Amino acid sequence: MKWLGKRPVLDGASGELERWQMLIDGEWQDASTGETFETFDPGRAAAIARVADGNSADVDRAVAAARRAFDDGRWSRLPAARRAEVLWTVADLLDEHAEALGRLEALNQGMPLRSAIADSLPSVARCFRYYAGWADKIQGTSSDLDKGGRDIHAYSLKEPVGVTALIIPWNAPLSMAAWKLAPALAAGCACVLKPAEETPLTALCLGEIMLNAGVPPGVVNVVTGRGETAGAPLAAHDDVDKVAFTGSTEIGKRIISAAIGNLKKVSLELGGKSPVIVCADADLERAIPGAAWAIFSNAGQVCTAGSRLFVHHSIAGDLIDGLEEIARDIQVGYSMEPDSEMGPLVSAKQHAAVTGYVNSAREEGAEVRDAGSLPDQGYFVRPTLLVGAQPDMRAVREEIFGPVTAIMTFDETDDALRRANATPYGLAASVWTESMSTAHRLSRGLRAGRVGINVHGYPDVTMPTGGYKQSGWGRELGREGLDNFLETKSLFMGA
Ligand code: ADP
Ligand code: MG
Repeated sequence: MKWLGKRPVLDGASGELERWQMLIDGEWQDASTGETFETFDPGRAAAIARVADGNSADVDRAVAAARRAFDDGRWSRLPAARRAEVLWTVADLLDEHAEALGRLEALNQGMPLRSAIADSLPSVARCFRYYAGWADKIQGTSSDLDKGGRDIHAYSLKEPVGVTALIIPWNAPLSMAAWKLAPALAAGCACVLKPAEETPLTALCLGEIMLNAGVPPGVVNVVTGRGETAGAPLAAHDDVDKVAFTGSTEIGKRIISAAIGNLKKVSLELGGKSPVIVCADADLERAIPGAAWAIFSNAGQVCTAGSRLFVHHSIAGDLIDGLEEIARDIQVGYSMEPDSEMGPLVSAKQHAAVTGYVNSAREEGAEVRDAGSLPDQGYFVRPTLLVGAQPDMRAVREEIFGPVTAIMTFDETDDALRRANATPYGLAASVWTESMSTAHRLSRGLRAGRVGINVHGYPDVTMPTGGYKQSGWGRELGREGLDNFLETKSLFMGA
């Protein structure tokens, strides 16, 4: 194993940082310029490795490799059952190396080690097994026609869309890679994966696992690099048939513009500002931890995070007290400590952005409640409640992507619904009530791709996920996640 066994330099230990190469055409390669950039451990604010700073020439090489691999059929025309076996082997290797991968994911991203190992890695392996199961169940339809006395047999074929660009963010690097790679490979596509510049390391390990599992060289390429210099040329590339993107709404719009040149297919998973509505009759024993972890999981760096909390005024005091208690008790600590429950934000930039939102809310009149101590190095932010938030505050309108929720009260459920929907986003929502009719009315009225009743909801590989409004185009996961990577061909056979 080239990367999987590696122990990145920790705590600024002396010595050169290891240089991690990218994967193009089955070979580990430097950037054509030889340039690299540092990647960090956000819990120590320390560089841990250098990675290749891929540019448009490297993107060209990776796309050309994927094109050759796709066109010669080394993967796309394998028997589907064989593709399934290889994807299953990918999952087995993920299980085998779960500990090492979980450590690297926690180290580079900042998520607590125990959630990386206990939650993330198993769900990543599960994603590959789920789509392994689909590989040989990709079927079209058929009909027998009589056209002017001619007997015509018509049938439709589902074919892989071709060369795909998979551009992913840093908040859950391996999961985001799996959500795209697994269905793309099950469909028979060739891929160029561009991990976020903040979190490239586990994507490179995944590339290594692909090779070891028997994915033919060139079918999965991993180009590390920055958004403007590697992501942009990949999204614009004329020989890419489809781009699947997860990231900010702002960059999602740029992906659409970049796709115009060759009208490549586009699917997008973008930002959110998801509401949590706690009704007067909610069971607070469930609603309090539910609302807390809707925003504090992964330090709020979750696109479906419940970042606007609407609570009925009659229970607002109890709910806020309960949230404060949980916030105070959360173990905010270094990702690699086994008892940490909330790690740092991913980068200095993200830390500055989140603290900027908290400060702006304070200046605009919100009461900021954030108790507890923080480690004295690394990009940590306390779990934070913005009490008395107002709809026009920047922290209420915009996605923060940190452990910060804006709390607002309501009197009438219909008013809560109207305000919950008053956002350009529509990714997720949750409703907390013991009344079936309230649950029914609110869940039907919410304009969001995922609604939880007495649960904030989770991604699950069996359930489509994605956004209404400016939260995205299309759906990932489930059967719909596979459709992203398929074209339909109708065939008419005359005797
Ligand atoms: P964030 O702002 O949280 O970093 P982004 O949407 O900027 O989220 O990044 C998500 C992914 O998109 C990353 O892999 C990043 O490198 C990539 N990216 C950023 N800018 C562009 C761009 N102009 N074109 C294509 N990809 C980009
Ligand atoms: Mg960005």
